[in-house]
Amino acid sequence: MRIHNFCAGPCTLPLSVLEAAQAELTNFADTGMSMMEISHRSQAFMQIHEEALQLAQRLSGAPEQFKPLLLPGGASQQFAMSAQNLLGNNDIAAIVKSGIWAKKALQEANRVGRMEVVWDGAINDYTTLPESLELEKPFSYLHLTSNETVNGLQFPVFPEVDVPLVIDASSDYFSRELPWERCAVVYGGVQKNLAPSGLALVFVREDYLEDHPELAKFYCYKTHADANSLYNTPPTWQIYLLNKVLHWMEEKGGITYFADYAQEKSTKLYAAIDGLDFYHNDVDPRYRSTMNVIFRTPSQDLDIAFAREAEAQGLNGLKGHRSVGGLRASLYNALEMRSVDALIDFMNDFATRHV
Ligand SMILES: *Cc1c(COP(=O)(O)O)cnc(C)c1O
Repeated sequence: MRIHNFCAGPCTLPLSVLEAAQAELTNFADTGMSMMEISHRSQAFMQIHEEALQLAQRLSGAPEQFKPLLLPGGASQQFAMSAQNLLGNNDIAAIVKSGIWAKKALQEANRVGRMEVVWDGAINDYTTLPESLELEKPFSYLHLTSNETVNGLQFPVFPEVDVPLVIDASSDYFSRELPWERCAVVYGGVQKNLAPSGLALVFVREDYLEDHPELAKFYCYKTHADANSLYNTPPTWQIYLLNKVLHWMEEKGGITYFADYAQEKSTKLYAAIDGLDFYHNDVDPRYRSTMNVIFRTPSQDLDIAFAREAEAQGLNGLKGHRSVGGLRASLYNALEMRSVDALIDFMNDFATRHV
């Protein structure tokens, strides 16, 4: 039996995709092999790979001058790799320190280059975001985290600045539109909305695809762009499932459909949180995430009891991130409304029993 999976990542995948993968697990497309056993240079794989890249480009709405790359290492590797590729010796990047993920991006970028904080949400415990920004130096780019997975906040629109944006879109990838015309690089780990973990989908604007002889070849975006993301043996299984999830998304209606669905699911859940005195969410309502809904009960003990009892009833993955505690429901693309409804029923029941 399938449970309601609210896990923050890796996370729930569409059942139809899992079943299709299961049906061809031992014999993919009459090759007599599983997708995991096929050469990455075989026609069978290359076709899946190429199609995944094209679907990613089409569904994301990324204009032609962006090159989609499939890179191992997830989003964490992109914290450094984006800085390595975009920052020259005398360059400085800017970042909005919006939460725990932005903080990691900042730390990594500063190991390989220079990045400065232009807005820091730590003073408000990461509960709000800047509406606008004044950049006081000629920064090379501004790094933004479109959705803070742990802190439960999201930019509904991105601040207007006169430098290009580098966006970590890991946890709301393909659930919202992005301001492509203002971006240099958009990256995300695929395990939140798109595929199993271990892979990053990175869009690099063509004019940033330069060779950097001082870097190992592997760390240059250009190497992977020139090799169509087949410079090394890629994570074939992830790419195969990414292909299937993207097809599923396209059939459903693409980003427009999933953006509306995320809005509907999260609005319903926030209404339940706000509607009961028992639960609370401290995020500035303008910036509440449509993907990761964080909330608390009146005490830490009750938070723990909530997660434990919910799990016993088939509502999985509701424990908040270990760094912040509390509770968190992740409403990624493949999570259905009926799971949100089941959670709200449980929340009502739990509150009645513990007031
Ligand atoms: C999950 C996540 C990451 C890290 O992804 P990995 O694939 O584990 O490296 C980075 N940024 C954000 C916003 C995330 O949600």
